[in-house]
Amino acid sequence: MKNDIHRKCRNLSFETLCIHGHQEPEEPNYPVSYPIYQTVNFAFKNVKHAQRIMSEGSLFDHDKKGLYIYSRGANPTVRAFELLLADLELAEDGVAFSSGMAAITSTVLALVDKGDSILVSDTLYGETFGFFSNFLPRYGIKVRFTNFRDLSSVEKEIEKEHVKLVFLETPANPTLKVYPLKKIVDISHNYGAQVIVDNTFATPYFQKPRKLGVDIVVHSATKYIGGHSDVLGGIVVGTFKDMAKVRQNLYTLGAALDPFAAWLLLRGLKTLHVRMQRHFENALRIAEWLEELGLNVFYPFLRSSPYYELAKSQMSGFSGIVSFDVGEFDKAVKIVENTRIFIRAVSLGGVESLINHPASTTHYHVPLKIRESRGITDGLIRLSVGIENVNDLIGDLKDAFSKAGISP
Ligand code: PLP
Repeated sequence: MKNDIHRKCRNLSFETLCIHGHQEPEEPNYPVSYPIYQTVNFAFKNVKHAQRIMSEGSLFDHDKKGLYIYSRGANPTVRAFELLLADLELAEDGVAFSSGMAAITSTVLALVDKGDSILVSDTLYGETFGFFSNFLPRYGIKVRFTNFRDLSSVEKEIEKEHVKLVFLETPANPTLKVYPLKKIVDISHNYGAQVIVDNTFATPYFQKPRKLGVDIVVHSATKYIGGHSDVLGGIVVGTFKDMAKVRQNLYTLGAALDPFAAWLLLRGLKTLHVRMQRHFENALRIAEWLEELGLNVFYPFLRSSPYYELAKSQMSGFSGIVSFDVGEFDKAVKIVENTRIFIRAVSLGGVESLINHPASTTHYHVPLKIRESRGITDGLIRLSVGIENVNDLIGDLKDAFSKAGISP
């Protein structure tokens, strides 16, 4: 049966899956590294073969062998990546895209029609927020935002008017608020709404939203899944039924993942478990050190975090994102300008440590009042802690702090 490989992989542990899942050496040469099928189209052996492909439909096939037509819809290297992510996220199937934004937009557009309502968390990655607040309403889709920490507000909003989809990120950027997934799922399902979660920040290594009843999980694979700041990608996983709709949108809207990018993502996944463990250890150590300096630090696995108990109940750890507030714009700028190991750049999730000052970069155009209402103050700094030696990282921060007049 065509799902045999899928079933076999499910019995493997997370770590083994990361390395071997859906990349078994295949005939006739048995390559250890899964091949890059750098091809747009696939030949029909004869008319009978073409008829078989047309009747079975390569688009929704779950095996990687012999039923391909055109790489915008499906490609073996991309398919290996899709099936592996589906297994890591405990889903039936997956669909890959050329970026996280392509994955998010194509998925939502596959599941809603004109006139439908969507309920969205008010704390989201900026471009996702823009898609919901500016793009969708232009096409007659109603979008409402609420604070998902306030469950009575979630229920009130869903009750008010039938909601088809609920969308959130947890933990959310950049103040790392954690939302109670199981409770949000229960409320949404009670009213017949499907739940989509962006699991980019935690990754399936630390958080498995499908275990808590979430219907669809999306990722910017550009971040921890790739893990090396060298490839853009996106992935969506869920039921066969939902993924068939999403794949139709991939075919129509066309934001397909390139086979070489899929191969880089497969390579990144081979070390996901090892990298995530080190990101967690380094980030927690740095968060504790920052807290000892008396700063306001945002990291859900700090015991002092208001989200600590909830984080522990739905995640087994967290990644390398640590935010902290030094109180003043000028101090923040001085720190950011004086690190030597932490690289000044946006994005996150690579092996190298990054430092970013949202008020002067990612949120530069957001009016102060709106920025501050979302916790993005002038003194806020966000780190993407990498997997270097943590003492070197703390040393680098110490030097930069001294130059900003904060003596550690
Ligand atoms: N979701 C989250 C949480 C993100 O942080 C990002 C990008 O930073 C995206 C989605 C978009 O991903 P991409 O840049 O791969 O389109």
